Amino acid sequence: MAQKFYCKCCGQSFSSIKDLVNGPTCVKSPSKKHELYEGAEKTKYFCKWCGQSFSSFKDLVTGPTCVKSPTKKHEPAL
Ligand SMILES: [Zn+2]
Ligand SMILES: [Zn+2]
Repeated sequence: MAQKFYCKCCGQSFSSIKDLVNGPTCVKSPSKKHELYEGAEKTKYFCKWCGQSFSSFKDLVTGPTCVKSPTKKHEPAL
């Protein structure tokens, strides 16, 4: 299975870090650039604020409001 690299702002997956860094504009990022999620690829992802689990990285990032997070968004635990 090929490793995937995720943008922690929008949850999009890329086949290489280079693709992520050089990718098109990230609509969810304040800097408009995709930002690398540096954690390992997992079968489940947990929000570091509320502990909720998600079956995919994208579900976590694009999920509903996080009541425990200062930014109101779920953020992945590394
Ligand atoms: Zn992005
Ligand atoms: Zn959360």
